[in-house]
Amino acid sequence: MDKLSNILIVAGTHGNELSGIYTHKLIEEGLFIADRSTFSSTSVIANPTAVRHQCRYMDNDLNRQFATRSDATSCPSNEALLARQFIDKYASNNNQLIVDLHNTTSNMGATLILLSENPFYRKMGAYVKQRMPAANILFESHKPWNELPYLCTCGEYGVMIEVGAQSHGSLQYGTLELMKEMLTAVLDFVEKHNLNQLGELSNYTAYYYTQEITYPLDSSGMRQAMIHPTVCGRDFEAVKPGEPLLATFFGYDVHWQGEQDVYPHFINESAYSKANIAMALAEKQLVSVNKP
Ligand SMILES: [Zn+2]
Repeated sequence: MDKLSNILIVAGTHGNELSGIYTHKLIEEGLFIADRSTFSSTSVIANPTAVRHQCRYMDNDLNRQFATRSDATSCPSNEALLARQFIDKYASNNNQLIVDLHNTTSNMGATLILLSENPFYRKMGAYVKQRMPAANILFESHKPWNELPYLCTCGEYGVMIEVGAQSHGSLQYGTLELMKEMLTAVLDFVEKHNLNQLGELSNYTAYYYTQEITYPLDSSGMRQAMIHPTVCGRDFEAVKPGEPLLATFFGYDVHWQGEQDVYPHFINESAYSKANIAMALAEKQLVSVNKP
């Protein structure tokens, strides 16, 4: 793979996720150094109106607008328009990596979300895991690149950093530190990749997204269950076959029906409340770094 010559650091894709927005501010003020000897970094706010209003989005989720170019309508939503402008400005830049910064209300610590399994990303996961052993590496590589709706997939290369748990609209010292630490590791990885200085990287365990679990609803759209107390707050901890995922209000539980252990994450993410998504599930796998 070619050397990367520019890193586009994106914050405020969701306007109420403050770790990225304040990382952007630190970069602008020279308090966080995002350049390296082999590349320069550009830091941008993706949805300034939502940032000003301190909300996730104005009309709809900007981070779900990038699967395909939406048809031109006479009255596009604020975010559809932003997505088009973003694509026009950045998507065709060569040798650019987009790093999109997010917060989650789920207890996911620092999670690097990789959307492809090509050797570059497998190595990035290995390097970040080596630098931050407590970090989670999550592959969402179940769809082809151009079918993924995320902002960071609008160009050739992109990843997301998720840090939490942090309430949207709030700013926590430890969560900002985790974001800075993971962003630093990604930037250092690119520098070493460019210099051919990655050296020996070890195989590692990562999570692979499989599905979402939604709440059962009654006829009026109210939930009939909550996250089970044995799962609540335990992102990336194993749930074995037959163990509960949800606790209904009727005294029985909803159990995991699969044949393998699963690893819930984005548990009780407040931004997914509207869609009644209780959690996402992943499988755990060993990643071979040197597989071609
Ligand atoms: Zn977000």
